[in-house]
Amino acid sequence: MTTTATAATTTGEPQPRIPEEGHHRDVNGGWLRPAVFGAMDGLVSNLALMTGVVGGDVGHRTIVLTGLAGLAAGAFSMAAGEYTSVASQRELVEAEIEAERLELRRNPHGELAELAQLYTARGVDPELAHEVARQLSRDPEQTLAVHAREELGVDPDDLPSPLVAAASSFACFAVGALLPVLPYLLGATALWPALLLATAGLFLCGAVVARVTARSWWFSGLRQLVLGGAAAGLTYLLGSVIGGRIG
Ligand SMILES: [Zn+2]
Repeated sequence: MTTTATAATTTGEPQPRIPEEGHHRDVNGGWLRPAVFGAMDGLVSNLALMTGVVGGDVGHRTIVLTGLAGLAAGAFSMAAGEYTSVASQRELVEAEIEAERLELRRNPHGELAELAQLYTARGVDPELAHEVARQLSRDPEQTLAVHAREELGVDPDDLPSPLVAAASSFACFAVGALLPVLPYLLGATALWPALLLATAGLFLCGAVVARVTARSWWFSGLRQLVLGGAAAGLTYLLGSVIGGRIG
């Protein structure tokens, strides 16, 4: 955040800014961000589901079954959604790369000029831009990779895998969703051990998210706690109202 801000406001001398490996925060959050959000999603939704059922005053068996069913339903739904989302995005990118491959074969000179133009637009002298474009266009695969990166912003050899995305979001959701069920699975009969475990998990998730967002860990942790607590409290209320009516 601060590095980009200083780079943007520097109007005089061009500042050489060489990003070292590991120097920058991963602004996309990498794998940590989706993992934590997936776990948090599982935690909040399953905690809310279970407190709703507990509020309805049902037996131990029903609570455990509800928790496990909520875990499975949520994890499968997350995985399916993630698979479809990543697969369709990937198909779109692959179609664009194919179009670019075709264009490179059909009109190599025009594509070379286009690439040079991109560098000129960024402030490189036209002659040098043309030379750079020419040197980057020596073999077809490299040329395609350069065009994909410059025009589509993707690395054709490193497209996200829908299967990996689906499996990891399944696992993350399941881990979060397991927390409120765990005490019941181990024989607990009261709600408080599940609440305690879920609360700790929510705080932990919030604190880990703070590592990504550069917020203070306790603020982020508390915010998660309040949000998750509100969700659980409201469904508990809903469960006890409806449970009383239909019981
Ligand atoms: Zn191109």
